[in-house]
Amino acid sequence: CGIVGVLGDHEAAPLLVEALKRLEYRGYDSAGIATVNNGTLERRRAVGKLASLSDLLVHQPLTGKAGIGHTRWATHGAPNVENAHPHRAGPVAVVHNGIIENFRELREELAAAGLHFQTDTDTETIAMLVQHYLDQGLSHRDAAGKAIARLEGAFALALLFDGQDDLMIVARKGSPLALGHGEGEVFVGSDAIALAPMTNRITYLEEGDWAYLTRGSIEIRNQAGELVNRPVKTVKIDM
Ligand code: GLU
Repeated sequence: CGIVGVLGDHEAAPLLVEALKRLEYRGYDSAGIATVNNGTLERRRAVGKLASLSDLLVHQPLTGKAGIGHTRWATHGAPNVENAHPHRAGPVAVVHNGIIENFRELREELAAAGLHFQTDTDTETIAMLVQHYLDQGLSHRDAAGKAIARLEGAFALALLFDGQDDLMIVARKGSPLALGHGEGEVFVGSDAIALAPMTNRITYLEEGDWAYLTRGSIEIRNQAGELVNRPVKTVKIDM
């Protein structure tokens, strides 16, 4: 029930877990993170408390300075490891809060195109759709933009890609999402509170916005695909 993301200058895994802890108040049944390290995307997921994920990370650490994290409150599919986020399809990993209302139609379409689903979640459909458009030769930006435009429902999401150490794509519709500005670092959270240890300079995405993020640039588009400017606010949060 919370999402976080980091394109940073430090190891991402501890930052992601710390940021997820700050979203614990929202409730969750499982948690997971993914990082990209020298181009390699990997993930770790665990059912139950964040402590279970932390324990797993002690035994199977994840390195990399780019990452996404998630606490899940299951809506589609049992709360088990397979259904925990991040979900992955080929080079695409996604964390998602909310519900994709039209996932059945999208799934049928993708199944007809020969893609195979591994989970019961609505979320996996997002990763599959982006993968499908990448397979058609679209750029990461265009594939994600095209996929996001097809999603119905209320959601916030973050995408990370195998082979891309400096790229994250995020979107929101119906669920809040905040971008945090660092020095050559970018952070993402369901809530500015999650980002308080990293930064207090925050940009809130507006309804239907999606953003293409690298450490050096933030490109925000509205639902119509037009580049837009959203203000940077300095927020006061008690740590
Ligand atoms: N609908 C997604 C799922 O059940 C996301 C739930 C959430 O917001 O955590 O996996």
